[in-house]
Order: sequence, then C-alpha cells, then structure tokens
Amino acid sequence: MIAAHCHVQFKAFSGDSDEVIKKCLAQGMILNLVSTQSTTSAHAVETAERFDGCYATIGLHPVHVFETFVDEKEGGSFVSRAEKLDYEYYKKLAQSKKVVGIGECGLELFHFPEGYTKEEVLARQKEAFLLQYKLAQEMNLAMSIHVREAHDEMIEILKTLPHPIRAVVHCFTSNWKHAQEYLNMGMYLGFTGVITFPPKKSNPQIQFDLLEVVKNVPVDRMVIETDAPYLAPNAYRGQRCEPWMVVEVNKKIAEVKNMGLEEVAKHTHNNAAKLFNIPT
Ligand SMILES: [Zn+2]
Repeated sequence: MIAAHCHVQFKAFSGDSDEVIKKCLAQGMILNLVSTQSTTSAHAVETAERFDGCYATIGLHPVHVFETFVDEKEGGSFVSRAEKLDYEYYKKLAQSKKVVGIGECGLELFHFPEGYTKEEVLARQKEAFLLQYKLAQEMNLAMSIHVREAHDEMIEILKTLPHPIRAVVHCFTSNWKHAQEYLNMGMYLGFTGVITFPPKKSNPQIQFDLLEVVKNVPVDRMVIETDAPYLAPNAYRGQRCEPWMVVEVNKKIAEVKNMGLEEVAKHTHNNAAKLFNIPT
C-alpha cells in the first residue's frame, strides 16, 4: 500500500518519526512525505533519503504564503510564516532521487489571513501555485494539490493549463460536480480518513456528497492518503493519525464501492505508483 500523503516529518512526530516510519515499512507500506514550506521540505527529503520505501513531495502550502493563525485540533495550532516561494531552493531539493512530487500547493480560503481581501489572498496563492506547476513540469514531477473552500477558483486556474494534468487533489472533500471537473482534466482524487467520519448532525449532506464521489470515481483514479498527524480515521478518532491507519480508508472505499479489500488496495497502490512514478 502506498500512503500517498502524510507528514511524518512534522513536529507532531519529532520524538518518534523514525519508529513510526519503520513500523509502516515493516508492514510493506510505501510512504510519501508531503511538505508545506521550505523547512518541512528539506526535512522530508532528508528523511526520505534515509529509508528505502520512503519518498518526498516538496513545496509551499497556500496557508504559508501569508502569516495566518491555524488552529488544527490534532496537530496543535500555529501561526504560519509568510514565505515567498524560492524557485531555486525547491529546484535544488528536487534533484534528490527520492523527490517524487511538488506540493502541497494550491488554494486555501478556509484559514484566512487577517487584513487582506479575498482577491489579494487568491492572487498571491495563485502565483505560488503556478510557480510550483512550472517546477513540476521542469522536473517532470507530479503535483499534490491542496484545495479548501476554493474548488471553483482552482478549477478555473487548471482549465488554463495543458491537459492532462499530472496531479492529485489531496484530501478531496467536495461534491461529484467538482470531482468530475478534475477527472476530466486527467487528475486523480486523494481520499483520507474524512471518508470514514459520521455525517455532521448540523449538515449531514456534506458527508453524503463525499460518499457519492467515492462511489462514482473510477477506482483507477483514486489514491489513498492519511494526512497524518491530522484527520485520524473514525476508528482512531482523537488519536494522532499515523500512516498505517490508511488501511481504514482502503476499507471504507471497498465498502462504499462494494469491492474486495485486496482489489481496492491493488488499484490505489498502482495509481499512486503511476502518478508519482514510484518503483514498486
Ligand atoms: Zn497535508
């Protein structure tokens, strides 16, 4: 199984990241450590180089192009640094054979920096995203795209780029209409423990919409992720999420699509291997 998106190089794992990685590798898993800024990118590459079966995706998350207060329950809260994308820095990191992707890059309108208009936020995030797209093209790498409350805006940007686009929309949580737009552009959709959550009492439709997507997406266009340390699947809710918990995501997909566990695992593994060009 390839856990296509986790952050074992983050602070939440600072005391035991090697142990967590070894535990996952011992189960035959392959890990893709995804980054959010310059420091976590360097750390991902350094970590990936020490372990067979461990790869890195490097880049700048849209929340890190501004100084923003982020309150993540499982991973603790932090104030992001306003980082300007240093193309040459990331390009140098991307020389490592263990780098398989660029990201997570994209648009984020949920965590909103104080004192800016929506237009200003989108403009700066878009600039960073397009530079990372350019880097992905130059280095022949896939992209892991983060989109939160900005799918229409992201789809608009992607439509201006040549297709097919070699990318995964990480932690997809929107509806079938948006999903189809991405699929039509040749992209993959990434699913996390969110698909195992019970419907919210205040708005159950969100979860129904998401499960409709899981049901409809062709199995050869899905990848499984955890976003560890965030978003532990329902069976482990409240705990620090770890990449091996990705089996719960696999299980939920099998249940919703009425397929065998092995079959879903085989497909999602092959999809991630193809997308990120990971030797298996
Ligand atoms: Zn992530």
